[in-house]
Amino acid sequence: LYNQVQDLKGNIRVYCRVRPFKPGQSNTLSSVDHMDERTITILTHSKNGKEARKAFTFNKVFGPSVTQAEVFSDMQPLVRSVLDGYNVCIFAYGQTGSGKTHTMTGPKELTEEGLGVNYRALSDLFHISNQRKETISYDISVQMLEIYNEQVRDLLSADEIRNSSQNGINVPDANLVPVSLTSDVINLMSIGHKNRSVCSTALNDRSSRSHSCLTVHVQGRDLTSGNILRGSMHLVDLAGSERVDKSEVVGNRLKEAQHINKSLSALGDVISSLASRSSHVPYRNSKLTQLLQDSLGGQAKTLMFVHIAPEYEALGETISTLKFAERVATV
Ligand code: ADP
Ligand code: MG
Repeated sequence: LYNQVQDLKGNIRVYCRVRPFKPGQSNTLSSVDHMDERTITILTHSKNGKEARKAFTFNKVFGPSVTQAEVFSDMQPLVRSVLDGYNVCIFAYGQTGSGKTHTMTGPKELTEEGLGVNYRALSDLFHISNQRKETISYDISVQMLEIYNEQVRDLLSADEIRNSSQNGINVPDANLVPVSLTSDVINLMSIGHKNRSVCSTALNDRSSRSHSCLTVHVQGRDLTSGNILRGSMHLVDLAGSERVDKSEVVGNRLKEAQHINKSLSALGDVISSLASRSSHVPYRNSKLTQLLQDSLGGQAKTLMFVHIAPEYEALGETISTLKFAERVATV
């Protein structure tokens, strides 16, 4: 078969991307001291006020000048493995404002070169499936879900999904829409974003407090043998990982924060127990990990993509993001 995943060593990979400074802020103090292909070194201060440095090593580190195309080209083999029947999960993790949505979707004013992983991945799948059309006939369809306060919602319809299944591959009741062109995907994503923003007026920037998941289902039929293969890819823009000060928030805001906290740590627990090949994997501790259970572990491929804001004021969150990433990285 077209197995291009040989070069992906191990099933869990961790990437780190550093956002550029906002325009006009280039002289701001940075917490990033140094970066190379695999290591990022953070400038901290020790208790006596002296400068100190801490280095973190990942599968890949992308600096602020790395383009969307360069980021995607690194992920391309992983994305293409879906057409060979693999299950893939790609997570964007980081504090609000660190660049998660930029990586997955792109900037608000979308241009060709600004297109994020979601669009590029689907275009690439269309392209390769077309190349293989003499031997394999592929059907590609997508779902868009949101998890907010441990409730799953279908972003491609108006309803809340009451009973999300545990099999991960199919969430019954959620709209599954066949796609064959990049323009189909762009249209669906704009419907999804509209449905999502319906709620944000009441709750004020809900997008940073919910997880959104674009799922791609692929079914390929071998035209000679008639064999069917199935693959899936979950592209997840996670809720902001910042800790909120519990003494300062109450009511809905506190509930949201607790749900986010719980689901991000459940995700970290699942990935780190997969990385350490532990016999018990605690999938059941959050909706997110339940939903993705079949796509995490086994032969599935996981990419945790952590995002860093370069400003020195963000140091606390930066360190906690890098610690999360270090914990899920295979040791
Ligand atoms: P998040 O989704 O983590 O809250 P965003 O993706 O919305 O963060 O990024 C915050 C702002 O920074 C946005 O205006 C975004 O366009 C910009 N930004 C983020 N990453 C990059 C990047 N790599 N290059 C240029 N601009 C970026
Ligand atoms: Mg975002």
